[in-house]
Amino acid sequence: MSAWESSIHEAGSSANWKDNLPELVGDISSWSKDIQPLALKISQGQRLTLEDGLFLYSYPNLSEIGRLSNCVRTARFGAYAFFNSNVHVNQTNVCVLACKFCAFRRSKKAEDAYSLDVEAYLDDLGQYAKFVDEVHSVGGLHPDWGVEHYETLFKASKERFPHVSIKALTAVEIKHISQLSNMSFQETLSRLKKAGLTSLPGGGAEILDDDVRAIICNGKESSSEYLQIHRCAHELGIPTNCTMLFGTIETLEQRLNHMIQLRELNDQTNGFQCFVPYPFLPDDTRLPEAQLATGSEILRTIAISRLMLDSIPHIKAYRMNIGDELAEIALQYGADDIDGTVQKESIMHLAGSTTPLDHDRIRLARLITDSGCIPVQRNTTYERFEIFIPPEPKRRQNLKMASM
Ligand code: SF4
Repeated sequence: MSAWESSIHEAGSSANWKDNLPELVGDISSWSKDIQPLALKISQGQRLTLEDGLFLYSYPNLSEIGRLSNCVRTARFGAYAFFNSNVHVNQTNVCVLACKFCAFRRSKKAEDAYSLDVEAYLDDLGQYAKFVDEVHSVGGLHPDWGVEHYETLFKASKERFPHVSIKALTAVEIKHISQLSNMSFQETLSRLKKAGLTSLPGGGAEILDDDVRAIICNGKESSSEYLQIHRCAHELGIPTNCTMLFGTIETLEQRLNHMIQLRELNDQTNGFQCFVPYPFLPDDTRLPEAQLATGSEILRTIAISRLMLDSIPHIKAYRMNIGDELAEIALQYGADDIDGTVQKESIMHLAGSTTPLDHDRIRLARLITDSGCIPVQRNTTYERFEIFIPPEPKRRQNLKMASM
């Protein structure tokens, strides 16, 4: 089978994936003694608790956590790992808020502030539209753009580029647009859906704990508003992603509570398709007290996410943030998706990311094959899949040794 389809809710994962776990986890005695109780729980398809998560954060053998998370990932998707062909177009960097971790936002009067009008946005997208099937658009909270602006933008985008899905607007943008337009979240989302919005990205979740939010992103949507907006989207049939920004000032309990709130919402709505955990990048930001995550902590957090989030199918290694090298390794630590070709990205790059932006499908698929997985191109909503095996790279010719 080289191409297949799925539903928004299953998102390419087998409904009976837990049946595969006993064989994949194998003989419990093959695991170190301390992790055997958790290996048994996973093998039996039981849900992990906050205490289990804390144990995994303190367990010294990271590769064993990776092995366990890989069993769960393989139970869902076998050796497949996913990517898509997309482009990021950030419609504006003007924002009425000033989150402490954000290197992207500008005040309206800043020299490098920009706001793409509809034509400028379409011109930008038009440069890439031939090569992509998704535009990912998030931006600042523009003081003047209400629901009508985005309706016009989405309708015009669909008219000119009907094959391009629109994954746009984080929860805080939905809240801001609702307030400007004096509408409920429900009304705002259903109007945007009608205008062409396909899905919501997961940004703006940061850490779902209002004490942390008061310090790192004061004024943003509250934890319960984030969950309410995503619930509302799911009820309207709009699939969404969810994220976690870690390595600022949060505790491990707060990270795990964040995951638990997301999985519990998805128990009820089944509309989260992918969880995207990404570490705080510090350049040019105003959060000197941030802890900053090391490479092994990033891998550990990705692996723990896979083990905790049994109701969310996909875990993304967001290469725009963690880099290609770590994203490739993360595919052996529970992640199954490395995002897209991207082409153009500002938010992470302004904060310090050095991930290359010019990846075509072949280079992206090679990252996946090098990690030992089979590359599968997916669409935005994880309903269409196609295996994409990249051609063998050209072998380098050996240069003749210079004679001494
Ligand atoms: S993170 Fe979003 S809401 Fe916060 S300042 Fe940056 S652009 Fe504005």
